Amino acid sequence: MRIRSITAPNPGAFTLDGTRTYLLGETAVLDPGPAIDAHIDAILAAQPRLDTILITHRHADHAPAAVPLKERCGARIIAPADVLDDRQVDLRVAGGESLDIDGTAIEVIATPGHTSEHVCYLTADGDLFTGDTILGTGTTAIFPPDGNMADYIRSLRRLRARSPKRIQPAHGPTRSDAIALIDEYIAHRLERERQVLEALAGGARTLSELRSRVYPDLDPQLIGAAEIQMTAHLTKLKDENRVEETDGRYRVRE
Ligand SMILES: [Zn+2]
Repeated sequence: MRIRSITAPNPGAFTLDGTRTYLLGETAVLDPGPAIDAHIDAILAAQPRLDTILITHRHADHAPAAVPLKERCGARIIAPADVLDDRQVDLRVAGGESLDIDGTAIEVIATPGHTSEHVCYLTADGDLFTGDTILGTGTTAIFPPDGNMADYIRSLRRLRARSPKRIQPAHGPTRSDAIALIDEYIAHRLERERQVLEALAGGARTLSELRSRVYPDLDPQLIGAAEIQMTAHLTKLKDENRVEETDGRYRVRE
């Protein structure tokens, strides 16, 4: 299947260069991106026979352009739960489905973690469209309670088990080292978890004490985001009965 991409004009801290909207074959688009007129025009110019819109998850840099695209060309929208309105979506997917897209089978894989409804799409050629589950550079953000670290690590392992050849992320470059990149992603989260446990063993009790041990010398602008990631790790450890919390103070369970 021919794969092209157009980067939306929405660069930023979380979107890197902007959302990469993929054009699949001659008739489909994946993660159409934000509803910016110039971007919608570019999609329709590059994919004049558009009939199918696939979406990975509900975030505003991925899904909204689906609605004006559908209004302009009548394409069907395929998306997981909680993405857009039920009246706008033609087919809900949850993982496990095999779709016929432009004559090619594309498998839907459930990947909760970044958000609870997130799905990835895998072609028979091994191209894995990861949305925000795996980015081309850096790491993705897990915002609890909808984002869930334990689910996220399980999702990464589920993707690895499918032996993808290339990662086609929504942000950052295509990666042809798919398995190595997934392994790096899993190792990064487990290393962070180990650091949280080590900080707890060293006497850190509150979120800010933990954050300053795990992320020393952090740019003050990033403290909020770092504490949210720490919370995601602590929630996983609490759910696993490895850490307990009383009034905002954490400790390792004996
Ligand atoms: Zn997202």
